[in-house]
Order: sequence, then structure tokens, then C-alpha cells
Amino acid sequence: MTRMKSVNESPDSSDLVVDLPKLQRNPGVPAEVASEWKPDLLETTHSSATLIQVKISLEAVSERITAIGTATLHWTAQCRRCLEATSGCTSIDINEIFEEGASEGETFELPLGEKLDLKPMLAEQVLLNLPLAALCSESCTGPKDTEFFTKSLPSNTEQNPQEFKDPRWSALDQLKFTDD
Ligand SMILES: [Zn+2]
Repeated sequence: MTRMKSVNESPDSSDLVVDLPKLQRNPGVPAEVASEWKPDLLETTHSSATLIQVKISLEAVSERITAIGTATLHWTAQCRRCLEATSGCTSIDINEIFEEGASEGETFELPLGEKLDLKPMLAEQVLLNLPLAALCSESCTGPKDTEFFTKSLPSNTEQNPQEFKDPRWSALDQLKFTDD
């Protein structure tokens, strides 16, 4: 059976899988990778990546491959105040090393085969940079009914506290406190 290529997959994302022997044959000669990737599922609870534009320079240095460049992450998210959909983009600096026997959290493992797929490394960067609590704008005040609570109470409250009594608390009026 032939595996169908996903319709959502950007045709250019194949550029993010680079030929290792070619890189290693030319140590010290950087190879530029300019590509974009539409990940199928790269998200946090309230935000998801829609497109990642990549411009990376790869270079074989001794037994390692260095990846230096930038990624522009385009995301959509839910505004934490009004809960409406919002979107934005975040620029990510890429400065990573691929090597055999990588140290966890510091470098990435160099694959044994001939292909170096940059997507898992990019996915990790994206997850670190997706907004956890996005705002549609700095001045977003949220929906109308919660906005009410942020305003100060009308000035006549102090003069006529009875007017603003919440009926749900009326049972408390029955309570009598004595000094005995
Ligand atoms: Zn908002």
C-alpha cells in the first residue's frame, strides 16, 4: 500500500530533512536551509502552531552539526481574557548542536542514517515558545459581564448600602449577634 501524502503537509517541509553525508563531506561549509512547515498538531492547551518559517545555516564541525538561524512561529490562540480567537507570530533564535551521544536538554542526537530531520528539534522550540496565556490585545478587558467587576462600585453605595444588598445574602440579616 502506498502512503498518501497528507494534504495539509506543506510541500516545502521536505527541505527540513537534510542529507547528512553531503554536509559531512564539506566541513566548515555552511548549508542554508530556508523552508516552511505547517505542522499537523503542535499545540499547548490554549494555542497552536499554524506555520513555522525557518532560515537555518547547518555546518559540519568535527563530529557535530551546528544549526544556527531563526524560526518564525505563527500561532493561533484563545485570548485569556475574552476567550476570543487571536493570532500572532514569535521569532525564535535557533542555536543548536546535533551530535552522537547527545546530552539531554543541551544537544540533539545525530541520527545514524543519512537523513537529519530538523522537525523534531523545531517542534521542541515551538512548544517552548507557544504562548501559554495569549491576549488579543494588551488592552483587552474581557467580556462585558466580567468587565463590571473591575469597575469601582457606584459612589452612592456608601450612602445607601441597602440598595446594593444582594438578596442571596438576606438570610444573614436574620442573624443576631449579642455580647452575652
Ligand atoms: Zn481578548
